[in-house]
Amino acid sequence: MTTSKSFEDIPLRADDLPEYRLTRYLPQDDAVRPAMLVVPGGGYNSVCMATEGWPIADRFQALGFQVFILTYHVNPHHFPQPQHDLQRAIRLIRHNAKSWQVNPDNVALVGFSAGGHLCACAATGVIPPCTVQDEADSCDDRPNAVLLAYAVISFNSLSYAHIGSAKNLLGDRFEEFKNILSLQNSVNESSCPAFLWHTLEDTVVPWQNSLLYAEAMAKHHIPCELHLYPSGPHGMTLGYGRQDIAQWPELAKTFLRVTCGFRFPEERSRGTIALTFDDAVANHLTYVAPILEKYGFGATFFITRFNDEWRAEHSDTLLTAAQIRELHDCGFEIANHSWSHPDLRKLSQEEIQQEITRLQEFLTEAGIPAPTTFAYPGGPFAENAVPLLKQAGFTLARSVEHRPWAPATDDPMNIPAIPLQNGKDGDFYRALMQASEGRIPVLVFHGVPDTVHPWVDTPPENFAQYMKYLHDNNYKVVALRDLVSG
Ligand SMILES: [Zn+2]
Repeated sequence: MTTSKSFEDIPLRADDLPEYRLTRYLPQDDAVRPAMLVVPGGGYNSVCMATEGWPIADRFQALGFQVFILTYHVNPHHFPQPQHDLQRAIRLIRHNAKSWQVNPDNVALVGFSAGGHLCACAATGVIPPCTVQDEADSCDDRPNAVLLAYAVISFNSLSYAHIGSAKNLLGDRFEEFKNILSLQNSVNESSCPAFLWHTLEDTVVPWQNSLLYAEAMAKHHIPCELHLYPSGPHGMTLGYGRQDIAQWPELAKTFLRVTCGFRFPEERSRGTIALTFDDAVANHLTYVAPILEKYGFGATFFITRFNDEWRAEHSDTLLTAAQIRELHDCGFEIANHSWSHPDLRKLSQEEIQQEITRLQEFLTEAGIPAPTTFAYPGGPFAENAVPLLKQAGFTLARSVEHRPWAPATDDPMNIPAIPLQNGKDGDFYRALMQASEGRIPVLVFHGVPDTVHPWVDTPPENFAQYMKYLHDNNYKVVALRDLVSG
């Protein structure tokens, strides 16, 4: 079954026996994928590679993961040796993420029975620090999610504890560690999300183990999904012959994708969204930019300085030249929104020229290349400004028009955009629904929050939700300049 697969064995540590190893399936294409590290069970007395190793790795490889299998220390080796093996394996995966084509922020573990206990140790962070041997040991040892199949969780509950695993792991230190390694007690705010399943007929490790863990997760408000199947003994692995149980790997993948934000290269993009931020609010740098960076989103920031009195009064909420430069250095598009934010339709050609030029000079002085994207102050299209904008080298200009942009037919000097304000969630989701082939919703945000212009406010928690939604639903999120073809 595994002979046609190509894989390599990597010793966990240079100075240890090669039997304690990470088995890595070689990638089947060039894509970067989430990692799935398989941790077989065996009651901390053996490692069941034949049933809970190879077939599981095959299944998750077919589901689009880069897969690994851990062979760890068992009795007569005791706590924390198996835990240190798993910790090391997670770090090796992150350390080699680039050459192994793994997304280091999408590292999941799948553990069975006692292997589930081992995974939950990593998920809850009860693994004591190991001595640092090399660079890999400085990598984060917390998985991004765990899948726990009929897992041992409790070592101390009278009726549910799996004492065999506990004794094998702890030897004569059972009393000392049984409480902290009853992992429902060790779940905390920084534990990672978990997907659990169990059968109600399991007499080896009772289903209450999974329930105890799920309860602890819910108590700490950490995402958790629990499936209890009505029948089947302990050790159903991939649920062979059972249509209900056999679905859990797909359900787990959906959990990782939807709840944990894991990304798979074969998912089609739901559409393209352009993000724009107006009026140079300071929280564009302090609050918005880190979220955009986390998701790898592009965005255009439209800079304006308003008039002198306004600027003097609101200097603490307005981006400084240095802060704008910081946004530029992060890779975001910095664009021109006029110097003082007047209604251009009411200005003479000379005045318009001044508004454009003064802001260009301000940005140049800050070390930012002259923008080629403009936004009409206040929103309405100012046709009288177009010749001057073109002359000054602008190739795109955004207005506000409550409909998606159609690059093939719309005038690039009058790009319609959809304003989002007052935390009206419906506007955001309606705007996304308009994304399609050739239709790009250009979203307009102001301050997040906007204390100076409360009528265009976006509450930070809504904004964080919007960005997570765009990420989880695989939208392509770009700056306006990214949409200039050719
Ligand atoms: Zn504005």
